Amino acid sequence: MKTRHGSTPIDPQALPQPVLRLIPREQHILSRRDVSPNALRVLYRLREAGFGAYLVGGAVRDLLLGMHPKDFDVATDATPEQVKQLFRNCRLIGRRFRLAHVVYGREIIEVATFRANSDDGSGDREMEDGRLVRDNVYGSIEDDAIRRDFTCNALYYAIEDFSVRDYVGGYEDVQARTMRLIGDPETRYREDPVRMLRAVRLAAKLDFEIEPATAAPIPRLAALLGEAAPARLFEEMLKLFLSGHAVASFERLEAHGLLGAVLPETEAALRSNRSGALRRMVLAGLRNTDARVAADEPVSPAFLFALLLWPAYCRALAGLQAQGMHVEEAQRRAADRVTLHQVQTIALPKRFSLPMQEIWLLQSRFSSRQRKRVFRLLAHPRFRAAYDFLVLRQAASDSHAADVEFWKQAQQASGDELSANLEATAAGGGDPGEDVPPQRRRRRRRRASAAAGE
Ligand code: ATP
Ligand code: MG
Repeated sequence: MKTRHGSTPIDPQALPQPVLRLIPREQHILSRRDVSPNALRVLYRLREAGFGAYLVGGAVRDLLLGMHPKDFDVATDATPEQVKQLFRNCRLIGRRFRLAHVVYGREIIEVATFRANSDDGSGDREMEDGRLVRDNVYGSIEDDAIRRDFTCNALYYAIEDFSVRDYVGGYEDVQARTMRLIGDPETRYREDPVRMLRAVRLAAKLDFEIEPATAAPIPRLAALLGEAAPARLFEEMLKLFLSGHAVASFERLEAHGLLGAVLPETEAALRSNRSGALRRMVLAGLRNTDARVAADEPVSPAFLFALLLWPAYCRALAGLQAQGMHVEEAQRRAADRVTLHQVQTIALPKRFSLPMQEIWLLQSRFSSRQRKRVFRLLAHPRFRAAYDFLVLRQAASDSHAADVEFWKQAQQASGDELSANLEATAAGGGDPGEDVPPQRRRRRRRRASAAAGE
């Protein structure tokens, strides 16, 4: 195996000198029993073959915090090819970052070869304008530790003596619940701007504070996220908002000046919405999302983005209507415009943006009490999502109470009950929600009665 020593760091000031601190088994709470059996299998097999192998990253951090990691990553001095030779159930992936995946049914153990944050001229590490675009220079465990992002993510659990190995002060930072970038923060953010989002996301997830020097450059460098790969930002957004800590993520994005970098039009709309109703609505929705995740109920990216971009949509709609555009046309245009602008930063796939737009466009149909329209809306494949969205809007402003009540009952009633109910409402004539002109209404009502009498 190729290890490299004495290679030149990109910026000598950017990377600290790694110093090993070994925390023995009796001094930490990480127990082998909490490690996935498949990860243990991988660690032992690599060791038996004579390689160094450690549990690393988020799993070690989470276990030291008493949390349950969702995946287990392994770091080793074996190259991806050597890993592949040891495991039949192994496939090599990645170009920017070559990795071995050892596959056990639905669980994948990610095995990464120690990497160095240095350029040895082999060409397998590529920088563009200070950004890291390829990172396949292998190195020692010390090299591997200091090229990681935060100190809390750079801890290694050794299977041979059950110790935790810390080269960057991560163990203390975990105890103090502190996010601290390894090395010079600005350099590390320029290398990979997504680290700014990771700082906020992990702080929200772990309930950590971002230490001052790590937090300070974020507002100033936030715009660099505009150059990050839109597909990666989409993944990061799902982790920020669909992992059970959406409210904390949102508040921290705002606090660190990152909201405008990921959701520019929503940020502008929230700023100009003086009553604060739109922000209340977004937070109510995110609170709801967190509750659903906690209860193991499904959450959807379409609904999430409908919520996150609703302020942008409302603002665009108001603008188009102020220009005199007819309401239905304005709604469609606003939905398209907001989507088109947003996908330039975050690659929201069509399979999510289309239902997102439907959720928006269905909102104006909830005021109708016209029989045919009521039944058509109830049968719409996106009805339930759109109704849930209406309930959220109601939580933030009282103006939708009557609609929420009506559609709640409409869902519970049988077809016949609902028909009768709508007949009665129409016969009473006093339906403020009716949205068709009186003459048409009368004609349709006759037809509806005829149909009901069949
Ligand atoms: P979680 O899985 O809980 O979201 P994580 O820290 O495990 O958090 P991953 O994306 O799974 O995040 O990354 C695994 C590890 O890889 C991290 O703990 C960190 O050591 C390293 N890492 C991930 N992204 C970066 C990055 N952009 N720059 C440097 N190191 C990174
Ligand atoms: Mg992880």
